[in-house]
Amino acid sequence: MSITSYFENIVYGPSHEDDGSARAWLKDGGAQFGHLINGKSVEPIGGEYFETLEPATGQGLAHIALGRAADVEAAVSAARQAQPSWAKLSGHRRARFLYAMARSIQRNSRLISVIEALDNGKPIREARDIDIPLAARHFLYHAGWAQIQGQEFCDFEPLGVIGQIVPWNFPALMFAWKVAPALALGNTVVLKPAEQTPLSALLLGQLAVEIGLPPGVLNIVCGDGETGSLIVDSPDVDKVAFTGSTEVGRLIRSRTAGTGKSLTLELGGKSPFLVFEDADLDSAVEGVVDSIWFNQGQVCCAGSRLLVQESVADIFLAKLRQRMSKLRIGHPLEKSIDMGAIIDAAQLLRIQSLVDRAVADGADCYQPDLSLPNEGFFFPPTLLTNVQPCSEIVQEEIFGPVLCAMTFRTPDEAITLSNNSRYGLSASVWSETIGLAFEVAAKVKVGVVWINAANLFDASVGFGGVRESGFGREGGREGVLEYLHPRAWPRERGEGQTTLAPFVAKATTSNDAKIDRTSKLFIGGRQVRADAGYSKDVYSPDGQLIGQVPRGDRKDVRNAVEAARSADGWSSSDGHHRAQILYYIAENLSARADEFSERLTMMTGISSEEASNEVQASVDRLFSCGAWADKFEGVLHQPPMRGVALAIPEPIGVIGILCPDEAPLLSFISLVGSAICVGNRVVAVPSERWPLAVTDFIQVLETSDLPSGVVNIVTGERSGISNVLAEHDDLDSIWVFGSGDDCADAERLSIGNLKRTLVRSGSAIDWMNPAAAEGRVLLRHAVQVKNIWAPYGD
Ligand code: NAD
Repeated sequence: MSITSYFENIVYGPSHEDDGSARAWLKDGGAQFGHLINGKSVEPIGGEYFETLEPATGQGLAHIALGRAADVEAAVSAARQAQPSWAKLSGHRRARFLYAMARSIQRNSRLISVIEALDNGKPIREARDIDIPLAARHFLYHAGWAQIQGQEFCDFEPLGVIGQIVPWNFPALMFAWKVAPALALGNTVVLKPAEQTPLSALLLGQLAVEIGLPPGVLNIVCGDGETGSLIVDSPDVDKVAFTGSTEVGRLIRSRTAGTGKSLTLELGGKSPFLVFEDADLDSAVEGVVDSIWFNQGQVCCAGSRLLVQESVADIFLAKLRQRMSKLRIGHPLEKSIDMGAIIDAAQLLRIQSLVDRAVADGADCYQPDLSLPNEGFFFPPTLLTNVQPCSEIVQEEIFGPVLCAMTFRTPDEAITLSNNSRYGLSASVWSETIGLAFEVAAKVKVGVVWINAANLFDASVGFGGVRESGFGREGGREGVLEYLHPRAWPRERGEGQTTLAPFVAKATTSNDAKIDRTSKLFIGGRQVRADAGYSKDVYSPDGQLIGQVPRGDRKDVRNAVEAARSADGWSSSDGHHRAQILYYIAENLSARADEFSERLTMMTGISSEEASNEVQASVDRLFSCGAWADKFEGVLHQPPMRGVALAIPEPIGVIGILCPDEAPLLSFISLVGSAICVGNRVVAVPSERWPLAVTDFIQVLETSDLPSGVVNIVTGERSGISNVLAEHDDLDSIWVFGSGDDCADAERLSIGNLKRTLVRSGSAIDWMNPAAAEGRVLLRHAVQVKNIWAPYGD
């Protein structure tokens, strides 16, 4: 018999993982588990329990405490009490706990893996070889950050109490992704596992108690969506870190709007898997298996949209069908299976109905003739062809083992198809031409790219999405920063109130000689009149009318966003080019320093010395922005594999910036300069009260070689403009430095396209202080890190 035919005819014998220890652990708990609050397992205050099921059989596994308001309150209060002393521990002491946790996970890895496979339905092979080692790795990696926190993050403090809500697809891994960085940096945690899969989190919580983690540092409240929303709404939670569906992420964004809580959202995806004609097709077929049939396709970054170059599509799809026919589906504890069970009946039904609708819509469906277990929730690997880019099945996240395939002719078409999605989590690119692969990696709008690989993860490499796949990163240095607050930005609750006295215009004679009637909006590199033709008066502190600015409306804002969107050459230009332009703007402002000082004095009533200082600081700041333009660079990660991952900070795109009244020229320049130096284009709204220094600045911009559309300036009623910007679906981010109401509205209205938000009180920032108003503290909000994995080897 030849080796080939041996492999073709191989018959797998049963190889069932022993679940004795896991069943004994369940029995020890009386198959009934409480919450973990203040270091103890506690019964739910309301006495209610829910059942968690085994997806492979549909049978009950255990009864779990159902958390309601009193439970959440107790957990948050325990976390609050524990936080100051946890944060005060030396980094080394905290590192020791995290390190002990990593070791404990390794020691108990088989038990955790079996519990995970039972509760979630995933193959034991995946839990044992991927999820649990990675969970241990996260604790070990973050122990390191705790150890060197004093040197690396001395300008930051922990955020406080973190509410963490996770989904069911990687329960133990998600626990580690969330808990390890939060605890490492001195925060305390209230975590809610998904209602379908609470067991591994409870087991890990038990291990945390066993290693002696101080009570209250880690609390686990079990329950459903209502329990989650109680954590989100708790006034004593400083940050919410959520992983789950885009729908719930949107809800959480609107519920946290205006509360001052930090928020990170790791949401859904519909990731492209691109196969070019020069790819190693056999390897790419294996890549597809790892991409869409790993964890039954219940993976946020599953490569669920296969895009194959037309010239190799037939051969590639034939190879893929052949490979699909060899996949093995079975009980999760069988060690030789490729796919286990779907999480529950509801998810199974959802997958089936999406496939049914696609077929009714004209798709061709291929499912290999495989035998599925008779009980439990199983779905065969599925390939849908003859689908359209706009089909529901191509646009909607399925969260199941269903791949839809389309073809493309050119790399440009491949990129266009890839980016034709509201999501932007990940992409897998297959080509033997390194230049092409990196070109595509740079152009796809996602947070993670795997070149000739799929679904690689490591704690040192950030993970997270763009667009409606959410914001924030988990892992890497950027993930650590999500759990810290810069000391230079005060944190008092209720921030967002201006310190300036409210201005009331007096009815005085106007000083016509000083009125500059020529002020216009600046859109697409041109000075233009406001659409509606209305103006807004600007007064000096003693009530003199000193100028008028156009009252921009919805249409002006839309024109400005369109102009900024078109100026995309700026985002792909290099830092050297951007630096030169920023220096040139600075020089031109410097040449007119006296004129700007006078304007500031006239407008705001500050002394000429103060005004001159503000102008000088503005020139200085523009130079700093120029300096950062080619220095806010990425890093090269060396995760445990043969290869590298490049963490590249990419500009966010188009940012709407609402500037404060405080230091009206300097704050505008600090914010706009920081945004554009790293390649963003902006629609900026200057101080409503004192806009004239900025409208004068338009002339400086016009003479400084800044490409049209990079900076657009709209004056007028700040709140109205802010709301239009926040709702605009073609704006990628909004920064509001203003009143609490404006900040709350911007966050609440940003949910349409889930744009990134940065909201602060203008007065909470000392604009003269470089530590607070320039450099990394702001630049971090002007970029999102894309991680490109590039393994070595043939
Ligand atoms: P889900 O949003 O329904 O639930 C996730 C968690 O949120 C659960 O713990 C749930 O109880 C809780 N929840 C539900 N309603 C809530 C509410 N109103 N307020 C607060 N919490 C609430 O998602 P799911 O179906 O459990 O998980 C699948 C989703 O998770 C998919 O969309 C997937 O793409 C996403 N996911 C994303 C990542 C990532 O890193 N981007 C990773 C894994 C899963």
